[in-house]
Amino acid sequence: MKTVQVRDGKERSLQKRHPWVFQGSVASGKADSGETVRVVGGDGGFLAWAAYSPTSTIRLRAWSFDEAERIDAAFFERRVSQALAVRARLPIASDAMRLVHGEADGLPGLIVDRYADTLSVQFGSAGAERWKAVIADALLKATGLARLYERSDASVRSLEGLEPRTGWLHGGGATEVTIREHDWRLTVDVAEGHKTGFYLDQRDSRKLFADTVRHFGCQRVLNCYSYTGGFSVAALHGGAAHVTSVDSSAPALARAEAHVALNGFDASRHTTLDADVNQTLRNALQRGERFDAIVLDPPKFAPTVAHAERAARAYKDINRLALQLLVPGGLLFTFSCSGGISADLFHKIVASAGLDAGVDGLFYARLGAAPDHPMTVTFPEGEYLKGLVVIRAS
Ligand code: SAH
Repeated sequence: MKTVQVRDGKERSLQKRHPWVFQGSVASGKADSGETVRVVGGDGGFLAWAAYSPTSTIRLRAWSFDEAERIDAAFFERRVSQALAVRARLPIASDAMRLVHGEADGLPGLIVDRYADTLSVQFGSAGAERWKAVIADALLKATGLARLYERSDASVRSLEGLEPRTGWLHGGGATEVTIREHDWRLTVDVAEGHKTGFYLDQRDSRKLFADTVRHFGCQRVLNCYSYTGGFSVAALHGGAAHVTSVDSSAPALARAEAHVALNGFDASRHTTLDADVNQTLRNALQRGERFDAIVLDPPKFAPTVAHAERAARAYKDINRLALQLLVPGGLLFTFSCSGGISADLFHKIVASAGLDAGVDGLFYARLGAAPDHPMTVTFPEGEYLKGLVVIRAS
């Protein structure tokens, strides 16, 4: 077993069970891509078992902080069953859920989503890649499922020196799967969809949206960055008279249309717009359109803090426009999935968008990712998705 020593004084984050060691904190030691190494401190004392990544600035990702633990097939079986045991106790109103959420489940770089009878898996770190076959076996065994599709095509792979790879690792057949979520059904294509296929993290916010649309009696709904129309179907379930889904992806909008039909709603209650959201909001304002509820769920504007300032302006812009488009008493469901924007900063951005819009608003709720995307105290980087519900007052 190779040993990697961290610099004197750089032991602290591992001692606090943060799973990452950056390149600059490594004093000595090298290994192959994904190889398990023994990580020691400046005094030679054990800190962790970790996967080594020769090209990534995140040089080490800890598998375990327990010196007695061996990193072998049994280790991955244990971690997978722990992650599944947590999900089994969570209130998840769906047959689609995140089974393994990377670092938060003690499996750095590994994302496993279940869509009905199909697993969609992203091996996003050198360590996860190295143990791919073992992890796949552990997943199939623990879930009893037979279909496992690999979606290792996220850009993080290149930072780890890994090529993109997609395709069936086990089983096969159609890549489109129908899932049940709350009171509705949706389809997911695990080969073509974004990420592993779908945005499972917004499951509970979609439900809250349906309930709130119903409670407030919202009739005209605008779903911005709709993707395949999850929030649109939720709004129709909530009794909205008409929903407009806006997205720049034509295949996503085609699927949104199919979802409206799949759930038994008349096509006349739904319009799709293949367009840029910012421009769409400006056009709508110019035409004097008004909405009772608006969703803003944009892609990551700020992957890291370095992009925060520019991203803040982009968030403020769309939030100001959306608030102006709402009728008094109307609802804004607004989100940021940028790791580089904290919950506090997002709150400030939306508040100042309200000031610029000349609109008073009540912050009605703070939202986050669904509980199958857990956060841990030891890994604050895991917090990414935050949402606010604002009621326009005047
Ligand atoms: N709310 C969705 C997830 C949204 S993901 C759900 O619940 O499933 C973000 C979406 O924004 C993607 O579908 C992407 O195609 C779209 N998008 C990115 N930039 C855009 C732009 N400038 N204008 C319109 N849509 C955009």
